[in-house]
Amino acid sequence: MRKNIVAGNWKMHKTHTETLALLDEILAKKQDTTTEIIVAPTYVNLKAAVDKIAGKGITVAAQNMHQTEAGAFTGEIAANMLTDIGVKTVILGHSERRAFFHETDALLANKVDTALKHDMRVIFCFGEELKDRQIDNHFNVVEYQLRDGLFHLEKKDWAKIVLAYEPVWAIGTGETASPEQAQEMHLFIRNLVAKVYGSDIADNLTILYGGSVKPDNAKEIFSKPDVDGGLIGGASLKADDFLAIVNGF
Ligand code: PGA
Repeated sequence: MRKNIVAGNWKMHKTHTETLALLDEILAKKQDTTTEIIVAPTYVNLKAAVDKIAGKGITVAAQNMHQTEAGAFTGEIAANMLTDIGVKTVILGHSERRAFFHETDALLANKVDTALKHDMRVIFCFGEELKDRQIDNHFNVVEYQLRDGLFHLEKKDWAKIVLAYEPVWAIGTGETASPEQAQEMHLFIRNLVAKVYGSDIADNLTILYGGSVKPDNAKEIFSKPDVDGGLIGGASLKADDFLAIVNGF
């Protein structure tokens, strides 16, 4: 059985003090669950987050990392800096990284390789823009994002990959894909992975949905057979909302 995951992408929110306070509240209110809970604070707060939640059933992830090993890359963070402080999961290819920082599928393929080389787990984000959906090109866009970003991997690598389908038009807009639209795309993705890598890998692959998931829509989206959880932005910044979404399974 594949794993259910709910991950909070805190983006460029929460100071150090606020990070610790939010984690305290999540820890205090969290119920026992078989769903893996992930939080992704900013770089400067990762170590404090790891120290606070050590052994408490929450995973800390980074929101990004550089594609090369340590070197002359001012302002960047290398994979071994993350693993050395206990961060073994990284979100790559978020649409904001693609749009504002010009990350391409080719670059992301390199980042994925670097993460895997360091034995990190990757939450790989992708998804179409509104203009793609309007001309019915969304399946194509998603297929090429996966082919160019991930389909160079070997079968064994997929144990370390989590997918996050995030239609760009639904991120931070209050607009969500309908549960049916999410299911339709997730099934397409799973079938595509099955075609290339076999159904064993596809069946065990966790595919998250992201884009304006809130407490009042999570349950219905997560009830779809090929939706294995969510990548949550805005609603992950409040403990009650985030945990209500976690409890949506
Ligand atoms: P949102 O963000 O939940 O605020 O739409 C999702 C994401 O960017 O991962």
